[in-house]
Amino acid sequence: MQAMEITPNIHIISGRVVNCFLIVEPEGLTLIDTGIASYEKKITGYIASLGRSIHDLKHILLTHSDGDHVGSLAALKAASGAKVYTSAIEAQAIEAGIPSREPRFNAFGKFLARTTSGFFKFDPCKVDHILTPGQDLPILERLWVVPSPGHTPGHISFYSAAAKTLFAGDSLHSSRDELLCSNGPVTWDEAEALASMRLQAGIRPRMVCVGHGKVVKKAVGKFPE
Ligand SMILES: [Zn+2]
Repeated sequence: MQAMEITPNIHIISGRVVNCFLIVEPEGLTLIDTGIASYEKKITGYIASLGRSIHDLKHILLTHSDGDHVGSLAALKAASGAKVYTSAIEAQAIEAGIPSREPRFNAFGKFLARTTSGFFKFDPCKVDHILTPGQDLPILERLWVVPSPGHTPGHISFYSAAAKTLFAGDSLHSSRDELLCSNGPVTWDEAEALASMRLQAGIRPRMVCVGHGKVVKKAVGKFPE
């Protein structure tokens, strides 16, 4: 598990599976995605290492309902009292404790999914606020809700113009300092995913924080053509 500040007020908390991002402001902390169940202790410990209390965690923003992003959600909400935010479609899945789409697996994929399903299972959790595209939250001055369906039907991203940073969840991932669009059997709709990526590229973020892979800095020109 590694955690560090990557740019003023924005911290990454990453393990072997997935990245979460913590926004640290005097008035409170905001967590974007929560990792698998075992991340709860790591996130709580990291917050303490910053000299802040778990009760300073005010907002938990979720890009989508996959178990590797909401695995620690119920525990963190219970410990902190933070309010939970996501899109209507993802909220429905999170409150039911199920994925928001069926992966399009072949037989081997189905076998793998079955054997790893315990790993990605999550406890259902109440969502307090439904977010709609174009809405903004008073975090990092103004944090915009960017629609990014494709990986899942209700996937959303978050963009801070002040930090020129896009929190892309699983709509994008990175490899060798290049951004890649969500694809393959875990993608609900690849055409939608591509359209979402073009919209995100058009924002011209300077930094892109992804769920899987390293953070991409100087991101302009690192989106696929
Ligand atoms: Zn995902």
